[in-house]
Amino acid sequence: MLNDEKSLNFIEEIIEEDIRNGKHGGRVLTRFPPEPNGYLHIGHAKSIVLNFGLAQKYMGKTNLRFDDTNPVTEETEYVESIKNDIKWLGFQWAEELYTSDYFETLYGYAVKLIKKGLAYVDDSSSEEIAASKGTPTEPGKPTPYRDRSVEENLRLFAEMREGKYPDGAKVLRAKIDLANPNMHLRDPLLYRIKHAHHHRTGNKWCIYPMYDFAHGQSDSIENITHSICTLEFIPHRPLYDWLIEQLEIFPSKQYEFARLNLNYTVMSKRKLLQLVNEKYVDGWDDPRMPTISGLRRRGYTPASIRNFCERIGVAKRENIIDVGLLEFCIREDLNQTAWRRMAVLDPVKLVITNYPAGKTETLIGENNPEVEGGEGERSIPFSNELWIEREDFMENPPKKFFRLAPGLMVRLKHAYIIKCDEAVKDSEGNITEIRCTYLPESKSGEDTSGIKVKGTIHWVSVPHAKTAEVRLYDRLFNVENPAAEENFKLTINPESLQIIEKAYAEPDLLNAVPGKGYQFIRKGYFTLDDQQSTPDHLVFNRTVTLRDTWVKEMNRE
Ligand code: ATP
Ligand code: MG
Repeated sequence: MLNDEKSLNFIEEIIEEDIRNGKHGGRVLTRFPPEPNGYLHIGHAKSIVLNFGLAQKYMGKTNLRFDDTNPVTEETEYVESIKNDIKWLGFQWAEELYTSDYFETLYGYAVKLIKKGLAYVDDSSSEEIAASKGTPTEPGKPTPYRDRSVEENLRLFAEMREGKYPDGAKVLRAKIDLANPNMHLRDPLLYRIKHAHHHRTGNKWCIYPMYDFAHGQSDSIENITHSICTLEFIPHRPLYDWLIEQLEIFPSKQYEFARLNLNYTVMSKRKLLQLVNEKYVDGWDDPRMPTISGLRRRGYTPASIRNFCERIGVAKRENIIDVGLLEFCIREDLNQTAWRRMAVLDPVKLVITNYPAGKTETLIGENNPEVEGGEGERSIPFSNELWIEREDFMENPPKKFFRLAPGLMVRLKHAYIIKCDEAVKDSEGNITEIRCTYLPESKSGEDTSGIKVKGTIHWVSVPHAKTAEVRLYDRLFNVENPAAEENFKLTINPESLQIIEKAYAEPDLLNAVPGKGYQFIRKGYFTLDDQQSTPDHLVFNRTVTLRDTWVKEMNRE
């Protein structure tokens, strides 16, 4: 389906051109090729939404291919988490494939290149090879092994496979052009020896293909039509094309877009792994991590992440996206979908002196006032003793304080108008109780009091309150570009996690379900911590505040 209504991104333009020209019979097959050496992060989400999104738009398909050519860093745990995260984001791959399944085919391709005189076994050390490659302005020099005969190369390469040589003793290189201005064409490495256990092939192999001799070939084996990667691979493209041409295999094509960079975030898997291993965070799914699993645990929804990825678009030049945009996207989603609840995070007791002690009244609140019908309602018990936020009372308030102070009136959400009479203090002057009277005729929905008040505050009935631990998260880093620091770990925000051990929640929050967003009225959006919350010990994570407090702070500066 060609779509002319909305402007196309440059990759869509290419695909539509290909479809018009009948290339590959109009077929579109993309792939998402993660290396299973870590958990997926928001940058990967960008690539997933792009690859799967294009296939959906053009009635094509997307393969999930694990790019598992490096036996040392890869693990099955990562494979499972990657599959789980892609499904959670809402996408389904056509086939689940592994580069390691192609090792035999790739070996055959290497033999074919050797037979064509286009590859040779080099005994030089990696330092010698680096030194002989020259510089961008100076041509490289051949090593003494460049002109080995086809027969000798075939024999040595077979012996490499058989395990006759130790790591680093030999490599297989393509024989292209040692003077090419593109360094990637100066006889690039195709295979290296690595005696290591592989998570899928075990000890079957001790030689492993390099990225450049695996990626494009795998694309071709799968008949991928559009192989989309990030800008750093532009200089690899001539090699991608050269190998496919010399091997005379399916002509997949590579296209490059700008990777997603987010401020106040690190995104390389190596750095994220350090945060996990050195216990700066509580695992890959810590709610402060930019991983998909961290964002999920934090309360991000799949729709908000897809939306974010679509909003930032597909760029041809490097840029940095403000993490505020990601927060905007989840706020926008939760405003429409989160159920409203009341919870008091910094409690002080309020007593209604003219309400019968021991009486309980059941009040009603809509789950979601943003949608027609409110998505149903829940009951909220009310009594003469309530928890309210300490900050909602002031003894000597400034002029426009529309909350509680002696003599002032507010509405209790879903309940009555109350008038504050006095605050009771202990011997050290700390407020222990706020005493009020209520207007019986002012009940929400049937108010005949005729009194208008400016402020509404939230509350939780003391005898009915459920205690909950509440975790308030903030940005993990204090600087915009932590990756540019000499030691990015020194820029970790020491206040990125604040734990409230005993907050009070309205009893319906005992029914909270993992993955669902709740707006704690006036306090922010929260979700149940699906790892650590139990019915006996509720734990809620703050997904995001109601408003962007960082924008406010930045404007103040
Ligand atoms: P990292 O640098 O974090 O280790 P990577 O590129 O090595 O990432 P891969 O597992 O190889 O991670 O990535 C799988 C796919 O996701 C690749 O096609 C890669 O281009 C893409 N990808 C990775 N990071 C980003 C990003 N920040 N923005 C967009 N795409 C990304
Ligand atoms: Mg990679």
